[in-house]
Amino acid sequence: MKAPVYFLMTIILFAVISCKNENNQQTKPVKVDFSISDDNILEAIRKVKEEHTDEQSFRIERGVRQVASLWRESDGNIDEFMKFCVDNFISDDEKLYTAFKKLEHNFEILNGTFNNMSVKLLEPLHLDMGDIHFIDNIMGAYTPASHIDEDLFRNKMAFYIMLNFPSYSLKEKSENAEHWSRKDWAYARIGDLFISRIPAEFLQLASVAATDADTYIANYNIYMGNLVDEDMKTYFPEDMVLISHWGLRDELKTNYNKEDGLVKQKMIYDVMLRIVSQGIPETVINSNEYQWDPKNNKLYKDGEETEFNSEPYTRYEHLLRNFKSLSAMDKYNPIYPTYIERAYDESMELTQEEIEKLFIDFITSPEIKGVANLISKRLGRNLEPFDIWYDGFKARTNVDEDELSKVTRRKYPTAKAFKNDIPRILMDLGWSREKANYIADKISVDPSRGAGHAWGAEMKGDVAHLRTRVGKDGMDYKGYNIAIHELGHNVEQTITLYDIDYYMLRGVPNTGFTEAVAFLFQANDLKLLGQNSPSDHSKTEALSALDNCWSSFEIMGVSLVDMYVWQWMYENPDANPKELKDAVEKIAIKVWNDYYAPVFGVKDSPILGIYSHMIASPLYLANYPVGHLIEFQAEQYVKNKNFSDEITRMLLQGRVIPQVWMKGAVGSEISGQPTLNAVKKALNVIN
Ligand SMILES: [Zn+2]
Repeated sequence: MKAPVYFLMTIILFAVISCKNENNQQTKPVKVDFSISDDNILEAIRKVKEEHTDEQSFRIERGVRQVASLWRESDGNIDEFMKFCVDNFISDDEKLYTAFKKLEHNFEILNGTFNNMSVKLLEPLHLDMGDIHFIDNIMGAYTPASHIDEDLFRNKMAFYIMLNFPSYSLKEKSENAEHWSRKDWAYARIGDLFISRIPAEFLQLASVAATDADTYIANYNIYMGNLVDEDMKTYFPEDMVLISHWGLRDELKTNYNKEDGLVKQKMIYDVMLRIVSQGIPETVINSNEYQWDPKNNKLYKDGEETEFNSEPYTRYEHLLRNFKSLSAMDKYNPIYPTYIERAYDESMELTQEEIEKLFIDFITSPEIKGVANLISKRLGRNLEPFDIWYDGFKARTNVDEDELSKVTRRKYPTAKAFKNDIPRILMDLGWSREKANYIADKISVDPSRGAGHAWGAEMKGDVAHLRTRVGKDGMDYKGYNIAIHELGHNVEQTITLYDIDYYMLRGVPNTGFTEAVAFLFQANDLKLLGQNSPSDHSKTEALSALDNCWSSFEIMGVSLVDMYVWQWMYENPDANPKELKDAVEKIAIKVWNDYYAPVFGVKDSPILGIYSHMIASPLYLANYPVGHLIEFQAEQYVKNKNFSDEITRMLLQGRVIPQVWMKGAVGSEISGQPTLNAVKKALNVIN
């Protein structure tokens, strides 16, 4: 089961929304190219040093440089800059700690209150509250915190933090991890708050490019009933409309072991290749006016072949616009000066090299070949490139879902009934009655419009929200299964906010971790319902290992293509959409030939270039396989141990960096090895 929506509200202060404050007459035009000269920086450092001991040299140098890097003309002249540094640098430990605690408290107020405003403004859209009014849409899209960053630069609090709490690069954090105390980590996290200051017009540009790319992808539908083979035969239902690439991929998955399944899969594969190469007729996108033979790329109108124009590289035009608008911000990010570094080092807190190595080690491991052979044997044919989406390792429970729904409907006729049962659920997972009540009191269960989601609080005294869908006759099994997943998010959100030693360390390192915790809860859903797990336990475990392995294998390749394409764009910043198209095809084929062709026995497939994320969510893809690995490692570790103790222990590490969190949680860094070991065993069980 895939993750439902999870609202990531960890750093709402950084909400990337921009708009000009028309009412603020005081606003001076910002001259962004203003910079403080090296001589002036050295002079400021010298002046601050005069007042303090040598012990503070590192902090002074870094602090002053950081302030200088984001100081603009509108913040004051050179003398004011120097005076600011001299007046505000703190060397006394106790005074520094007082400043830290005060700032931490203030950020909890700001984060918590803004978060609460968003939760409430969005209620009409998120909760089952009847018709949605025009006002609900406008106010739901409004981000109350959008100006806070610039406000904190204006009142100099951002500079005060930068001056006193050095920010550390990912590399430095890793190197310091051995000897850093919890307080050092908390100081480093407050130091992370202000490391860039991007002029509003750049944010605006990026936001428009991102929205346009999103809209392009959201409207990229293929009318499946209009696809024909060379004999003008159709295979898909007339009314089937699929979005690229998710819909196409999911339809491909469902066609294993079906009548005409292989023919349909090949047809979908041909469609995908035409999208990657942009040979696709423009008139078949989001339209059912023509019949299209994707294999031979022939277009028909009422049975007559007709001329057409191919899509004019629009796909790559969007990718280029994202690249241009995001790389335009490079010079305003002194610590992570490329978008590649911002996506990996800053957001995921794993370096690009680290991720690349992790993925390549995994996809070249001998176990992969074993899984491929098993799939080929099961299908009774040689593998095709689209078998990266082979879907036959899903462990189907042998319990009847309708029967389970009867149980869940009886147990949970309303959202409130689920809420009342949370203490019991937590006690069944090992928490004491007292602790279970303590956590449950901080979770509100609300009936949602959609499938459900979890939205955490950002300040103590506030509750986390579990949104779940409860039908007229109660909660069905699907809804219950999702609710247990979301409860996992809520427990994580609650423990890491209320029980953590420093507010600045609340949360988990990145999205992969919060999903891993939620999946650990979800895996217990049948047990919590008083049902026995499926009878053949070893087979279920084997299938789950094979499934985790094959889906990681697939998406790691896609992520590598994404990574190499961004490197290529940085090397060729003036490329046009056609050149980018050629490069993407070349890169996708190279990754295929290097790592997938040896497994599939088929060369030169550009299929790894089909993912829509690459166009609409720049460099996000690597989060998925990393999440798969974390989930598997944590699951293996927790097995046969006390669930609540282990989860609590892992969570109380808070937001240190991912590799440090993993070492603390399971004793080793993020690794594909546990999955591969399980696969080795699984191949014996299944074979
Ligand atoms: Zn989730």
